Amino acid sequence: MRRIRAAVTEAPGAPFTVRDADLEDPRPHEVLVRMTAAGVCHTDLGMRDTWPRHLTPMVFGHEGAGRVEAVGTEVTGVVPGDHVCLTFASCGACEQCAAGHPAYCHAARARNFSGGRGDGTTPLSLDGAPLHAGFFGQSSFATHAVVHERGVVKVPSDLPAAVAAPLGCGGQTGAGTVLNRLRPEPGSSLVVLGAGGVGLSALMAAVAVGCDPVVAVDPVASRRALAIGLGAKAALPPRGRSDGGAARPHRRRRAPCRRDHRPSGDGPPGRRRAAPARRTRPPRPRR
Ligand SMILES: [Zn+2]
Ligand SMILES: [Zn+2]
Repeated sequence: MRRIRAAVTEAPGAPFTVRDADLEDPRPHEVLVRMTAAGVCHTDLGMRDTWPRHLTPMVFGHEGAGRVEAVGTEVTGVVPGDHVCLTFASCGACEQCAAGHPAYCHAARARNFSGGRGDGTTPLSLDGAPLHAGFFGQSSFATHAVVHERGVVKVPSDLPAAVAAPLGCGGQTGAGTVLNRLRPEPGSSLVVLGAGGVGLSALMAAVAVGCDPVVAVDPVASRRALAIGLGAKAALPPRGRSDGGAARPHRRRRAPCRRDHRPSGDGPPGRRRAAPARRTRPPRPRR
């Protein structure tokens, strides 16, 4: 057992309150991670507002990254000191997990949204009473988390934690939509609606597999500029939307814009931080 700090939600819709809490040592297949970065996803805020009262107090957070501090006796994939990012929990035993589709795990609800491990226990306690955890298998709005080894992914030690963290939700949601579901042929076109973390991850995946053109649609000029920097041929505001005169389309060149695929990005601007930019070019003038 160790003393940690966590952003606790005391009741549905209540603010995040930083509290001292107690965290169990990892069980045989669990890993203790000291968090060094955590993204805030719209889902954290939406589910905080609608979370069942009987599963409060609760710790949210599901885009965590950090360093492994301790491992259970049966853990083989990581060792203390490893840099990791965290992702959702899955059982590893059902037919979906066995088929390589852990996102459709039959035990997904219990292991990600039951307020604990899925067996009725939670590794956290607050003043001696259960503090619910295990949100998307993580509850990363805390200094430390105990998570199942299946939700821990080792990352290079030189990958900044703030870049690794959003891979646990936004990054894989956007990229996975393109790579695993749409599976576009090289040369096919793709439109991304919403250039936040999810949308820009979809965009980067589409560029990586050779989609052409890739077009982003977003009301925020800075996001459109970022989309261009990440490889979009054009970035447009939604019809009828203007953001202070900056709604002029950003274009690399006139694109034919035949639309073969259209993943939808995330919600309103400001709810999710944009994906990190490796390089950002200023928009080119319209030709
Ligand atoms: Zn999320
Ligand atoms: Zn499963």
